[in-house]
Amino acid sequence: SVKGKTAVITGSNSGIGLGIAWELARAGVEVILNSFTDSEEDHALARKIADETGTKVRYIQADMSDGDQCRALIEKAGACDILINNAGIQHVAPIDEFPAEKWNAIIAINLNSAYHTTAAALPLMRKAGWGRVINISSAHGLTASPFKSAYVAAKHGIVGMTKVVALETAKEPITANAICPGYVLTPLVESQIPDTMEKYGMERDEVIEKVMLERQPSKEFATTEQLGGTALFLCSDAAAQITGTTISVDGGWTAL
Ligand code: NAD
Repeated sequence: SVKGKTAVITGSNSGIGLGIAWELARAGVEVILNSFTDSEEDHALARKIADETGTKVRYIQADMSDGDQCRALIEKAGACDILINNAGIQHVAPIDEFPAEKWNAIIAINLNSAYHTTAAALPLMRKAGWGRVINISSAHGLTASPFKSAYVAAKHGIVGMTKVVALETAKEPITANAICPGYVLTPLVESQIPDTMEKYGMERDEVIEKVMLERQPSKEFATTEQLGGTALFLCSDAAAQITGTTISVDGGWTAL
């Protein structure tokens, strides 16, 4: 059982990371929330999850664009049985107009951070004799869309890194996998709606149906609860031989 294990979830004061935090806390996992901010709201969120689930929840500020801060997050956590590399940002532009600082930030936050946290967490997992590395990739870790060069590169990259970590831990009671969500209606996706409305001259509903869910055959967003459930499954004993692979939660996107 995962009860009493400690999970560090990067980028978890919002969206998918927060959804995973709730599901793990409900299962009795001690959760460490993280983002780059350090507001009263962040700490209140940790208290709220702790109060409602009866498990220990802490918030630790660390900027996932900085390698040293990624490693410091794991050190401050003190234990890390479950590592969820979730922090991520997006920027949409044709590659010849893609700002270099956006490219670098996406690669740093969506890919490099997972290298640093994994390097820092594996010794703790080995000491504890059990571990789960769960990387939040994307349908864009398996397929591509125009104008998302940095994001698609980072998400494919993290799938590759996941396979290597799985091979390096194959004989140990540690697994490494990537979850590949299709569209989930989080602030990250919400923020793309106004630009897309303007670009295509469409209403909000049209953008959701014809642009966003165009490639998601179910025509429904995946939910943060469903992603929490998928992460919890990967932590279960039933998933002990699942390693080095991807699980798509994309309403059929990658079956097309
Ligand atoms: P979100 O914007 O709601 O959440 C992103 C989280 O990352 C937030 O908690 C934010 O504070 C944090 N973050 C951003 N920059 C950070 C930094 N420098 N340091 C620390 N934390 C930072 O977005 P989301 O949709 O929940 O995305 C979470 C992950 O899921 C991302 O890796 C994203 O690429 C991936 N994903 C999302 C979707 C989707 O449709 N929403 C689909 C596939 C994959």
